[in-house]
Amino acid sequence: MRTSDIRQEFPLLNQQVNGYPLVYLDNAASTQKPESVLSAIGDYYRSLNSNVHRGVHHLSQQATSAFEDTREYVRNFMGASAKEEIIFTRGTTEAVNLLAESFSRGILSPADTVLATVSDHHSNFVPWQQACLRSGAKFDVLPVQANGTISMELLEEKLRQKPRIVVFPHISNVLGIVNPVKQITAMAHAYGALVLVDGAQGIAHCPVNVCDFDCDFYVWSGHKIYGPTGIGVLYGKKALLEQLPPYQFGGEMIEEVEWQQTSFAALPYKFEAGTPAIAEGIALKTALEFVHRVGFDAIGQHEADLVNHAFEGLKDIEGIEIYGEKTRHSGVISFNVKGVYHYDIGVILDQMGIAVRTGHHCAQPLMKFLNIPGCVRCSFAIYNTVSEVEYFVESLQKALRMLR
Ligand code: PLP
Repeated sequence: MRTSDIRQEFPLLNQQVNGYPLVYLDNAASTQKPESVLSAIGDYYRSLNSNVHRGVHHLSQQATSAFEDTREYVRNFMGASAKEEIIFTRGTTEAVNLLAESFSRGILSPADTVLATVSDHHSNFVPWQQACLRSGAKFDVLPVQANGTISMELLEEKLRQKPRIVVFPHISNVLGIVNPVKQITAMAHAYGALVLVDGAQGIAHCPVNVCDFDCDFYVWSGHKIYGPTGIGVLYGKKALLEQLPPYQFGGEMIEEVEWQQTSFAALPYKFEAGTPAIAEGIALKTALEFVHRVGFDAIGQHEADLVNHAFEGLKDIEGIEIYGEKTRHSGVISFNVKGVYHYDIGVILDQMGIAVRTGHHCAQPLMKFLNIPGCVRCSFAIYNTVSEVEYFVESLQKALRMLR
């Protein structure tokens, strides 16, 4: 599919910001939605709206069936073996909190260690740090190398301390580095550790097959893959999820409630208390169908082209420092320019219609490690074009002339 055809599917992109055509380069924060996803949300409320899993009536059955169709689609999309392994959450953050909370209630003890990385997003860092504080377990952090990659030697050194669980990002939301999930997982398993992969930045950019990765848990958010906000996924191996206590309590997640005791529903419902995000869940399937239609080969190729163009344009800018090794980049580039405050760059680019992100990117441990207060991040999606990248580089040069 041509990028121009793909862009036609995204109505939001066709607008002006501050008198310029919008150039949306904040896709790592959230992607735009194709018309098909917007329609799926509207159609649900227009013709299907009712609660799921509870009613015998027609609408409830139809809504339940559409919602459960997404679960099956997600299972297949991620290469999971069973629908019970797909838990719907509000997003990556809630999925990690679910795990960290469950682990801290009866699994983690003061004898245990949780190993995170310095490049983890706060969503995969703070819940584990807090779970360790609650349970008395040790919270250990793996630094990255100067080029942003994980050192396998250093990882192995940490693994010799026998952590209970290792958590890391599939793709860093700041450095764009793609971590070797399969290799890290195999190494962690060899030392008896469980593995949680934060797939918030991975899911939209490369094929994910959890059976092939062999990771124990993989979490992601719908809004980062052209889907709605408010819906995300926790994949977990069935045998492990069965051992974990529920995270929230209420409707949907029970089997039998007595005055003093409750038994819980089977997977996946044990972890899905209350009414889920039904419209969003149904529309998530439509988003994944869009990605499937475009295909990861085309997505990977297009984003690599954009990243290469951006690197070419940025590398000659005086005083620029780009973080992370170029060869392992997905569609994210973060940088600073000597003598210029990152926030000011973002403000001036916005005046030229360009949306980039500035700040710490919810990765303060990494900012501290890099010894910077923040940086500018541009991040690409399938609908971005080479001419947008060129306009971004030209505008950045103009902005820098104004700021210096
Ligand atoms: N993990 C990573 C790597 C992210 O980039 C993000 C969001 O930017 C998250 C976790 C949190 O995702 P959400 O806010 O959708 O829960």
